[in-house]
Parts: sequence; C-alpha cells; structure tokens
Amino acid sequence: MKDAIEAVKALAIGFATTFKHLFRKPITEEYPEYKRPLPARSRARIILTRDPDGAERCVACYLCSAVCPVSCISMQSAEKEGGRRYAQWFRINFARCIYCGFCEEACPTSAIQLTPQFENCKNDILSFVYEKKDLLVDHQGKDKEYNFYKYAGVATDVGQKGEHIKEERPVNIKSNLP
Ligand code: SF4
Ligand code: SF4
Repeated sequence: MKDAIEAVKALAIGFATTFKHLFRKPITEEYPEYKRPLPARSRARIILTRDPDGAERCVACYLCSAVCPVSCISMQSAEKEGGRRYAQWFRINFARCIYCGFCEEACPTSAIQLTPQFENCKNDILSFVYEKKDLLVDHQGKDKEYNFYKYAGVATDVGQKGEHIKEERPVNIKSNLP
C-alpha cells in the first residue's frame, strides 16, 4: 500500500510539472539569426593577445604546451635584441583541443586566452590547425591592464630588478643566513 501511495505521489508530481509548462510562454531563440551573448569566461576559440603597449604578450615559456592534457600546443621560442623572448611560430591543433582552459590558467603573461567564440565548425580537419597569424590578435582580450614586463622581476627596458610594480629590491640572500 505504501509503495502504491509513493508511486501515485511521484506520478502526480511529474504531471504537475508537465501541466505547469503547458501554460508557460515558449522561449524560442532563432539561432543562428539570434546569437545569445555568452559570458566572457566561456571557453571556446583560443587567441594570443597583446599587452597594453601593443607588444606580443607570449614569451614562449612553453608552460601552456606543457600543461595541455592533449598536447595540442606547439611552438618555437626565439629572442629579440634586448633579450625579450617571443614565439617564432606558435601552433594549436583545435581538432584535439578540449577547451579545458588549463593553458590560460598556466600562462604567466595572460597571452593565451579562451574566448566565447564557439562557432568553429569546418569540414576539413587540417584547417583546425591554427598558426600564430591566425591566433594573434590586436587587443588585450579579457585582461586589459596586465603587462608582464612591468611586474616580471627581470631587468628589461621597462625597469631594472626591484623597480617593477609591487616589487621590492633584490636582497642579498647571504644576509638572510643565521
Ligand atoms: S584549452 Fe586545454 S586542451 Fe585546449 S589548448 Fe588549452 S590546455 Fe590544451
Ligand atoms: S602563451 Fe603563455 S604559457 Fe604559452 S608559451 Fe606563451 S607565455 Fe608561455
């Protein structure tokens, strides 16, 4: 008897839910004519951004490529006069990418960022291999302010060690010994 009551109760709840929705105004979004704006943190198409001075943010440190669980990022590092590193070439195979966002998390310079652009379907699988020219954009993406070399703690044109934002002068480590 108890089981029968439980079953009737469950049925009633189910029908009540259906009945409630019968009188709701339908919400129909005519995709692709209407494209719902996605949150800025949605994880889709990846870009390489620039710092506020317009320079490439990527310093070819390989961290994104090391952390990528499907090994779809590859690059070759090079150095400009003055010692600033950059990626000579940078490649992402979007046919393998699972849009986990680990690369963005690992990036120390805020260079690599995932965007909400999810419409990325193609017939030719080889066209999912994006080169640096396809990835590099002319803006800062989500992170408008950050400029790695102003925080980096390295001697550069922007400042010597200890002169960067929120940075203290280097200490003589021997002075810390007991
Ligand atoms: S989002 Fe994930 S899978 Fe895609 S490139 Fe970044 S780390 Fe690799
Ligand atoms: S995108 Fe970021 S993590 Fe990847 S190599 Fe460039 S600086 Fe390093």
